[in-house]
Amino acid sequence: MQHTCSMCGTVYDFVWKEGTPLPKNFPFCSTRCKAADLSKWLNEEYTIATALPNTMPSDTEHEILAELAELGVCPDDDTD
Ligand SMILES: [Zn+2]
Repeated sequence: MQHTCSMCGTVYDFVWKEGTPLPKNFPFCSTRCKAADLSKWLNEEYTIATALPNTMPSDTEHEILAELAELGVCPDDDTD
């Protein structure tokens, strides 16, 4: 199955079996696109708690922030 990335529009192979967790970066093609989307949300001052479904594990926020740190993206970076 193929899926179009919601961030950059890249069409990528999307491997998923029903009943298993969705791919880590879904609906994006890569961690970078997921991070870019999250940064957009943060820049618009939406909270992560609002952006994510309540069913997400409580540590998801920390995982995403850790991924952002790995990518060199700092949501708390103040350019002022
Ligand atoms: Zn993408």
